Amino acid sequence: MRVLITGAAGFLGSHLSDRMLAEGHEVIGMDNFITGSPENIAHLATNEKFFFYKRDVSNYIFVPGKVDAILHFASPASPNPLSPSGYFNLPIQTMKAGALGTHNCLGIARVQKSRFMLASTSEIYGDPLVHPQVETYPGNVDPVGTRAVYDEAKRFAEALTMAYHRTHDVDTRIVRIFNTYGPRMDLEDGRALPNFLKQALLGQSLTVYGDGSQTRSFCYVDDLIEGILLLLNSNETMPVNLGNPEEMTILQFAESINKIVGNKAGIVFVKEARSERDPQRRQPDISRAKKLLNWMPSIGLEEGIRKTIPYFKHRLGLG
Ligand code: UDP
Repeated sequence: MRVLITGAAGFLGSHLSDRMLAEGHEVIGMDNFITGSPENIAHLATNEKFFFYKRDVSNYIFVPGKVDAILHFASPASPNPLSPSGYFNLPIQTMKAGALGTHNCLGIARVQKSRFMLASTSEIYGDPLVHPQVETYPGNVDPVGTRAVYDEAKRFAEALTMAYHRTHDVDTRIVRIFNTYGPRMDLEDGRALPNFLKQALLGQSLTVYGDGSQTRSFCYVDDLIEGILLLLNSNETMPVNLGNPEEMTILQFAESINKIVGNKAGIVFVKEARSERDPQRRQPDISRAKKLLNWMPSIGLEEGIRKTIPYFKHRLGLG
């Protein structure tokens, strides 16, 4: 296959590119580097099957030749208001990547008869009132809240994807991605894992926002990429949750990281740093993925953190 991956220099996009190339496919990567990093794809510079174009996919995009599949993974994705690369600080770019970027990709998929996959998110469930989150739950999102730029862009993107599927018979996939971590995450994007792991490795206190009672469920990147490939190769056109259902409070998560790293500096609560409408609970119901794709994550938190540490140490200059 020839595959177009938008957001190819991002955390997930770069892992997807690697995986597609490893499977023998040709990859056309696009990214404008507003949150992605050239270093994430530097190792592909000499790969004869990888072609990179610096593009903003919100603008008209031209793809040289035929592509068999389009994976639209371009978007800012960090909710941290303190981070310059978070979507609070890139609100219009985020809405454009989700809305115009998705439209552009679907337009190519329609003309070229390519398969299209949308990287959607657990954020479409907002601050969920149903727990764990099943794909049939329509969500609890405030359209004028500050998080809405990401949540509503992705909700619009899902609706547009279904419209192209229903109207033009485009062969579409929607993956709803829950919290994922691993090497190549942006250490400065302000999310819980990069902040905690960086702080722990530097011997600093971990900054738990609010009282730490909010929950998340963290999936190691290799597990997620495996699920994405299975979904792409399946016939399922309705949304599928992918994530690790092992739910924990953010306080437990911080304590686990301190334990794994051996950090003695403990935890500080930064009550006021918790952003508006930060979801109180999040856990994927992955019954559909299990049934349709025969998929479930196999890497637990401790193993995943250990696999992530060398990358963080390298980035922090800790050898
Ligand atoms: N969080 C935290 N300390 C940090 C960064 C994040 O306690 O240094 C909290 C954040 O308030 C949220 C949870 O960790 O409740 C997960 O946040 P993250 O930014 O990783 O992504 P989200 O799951 O909200 O998309």
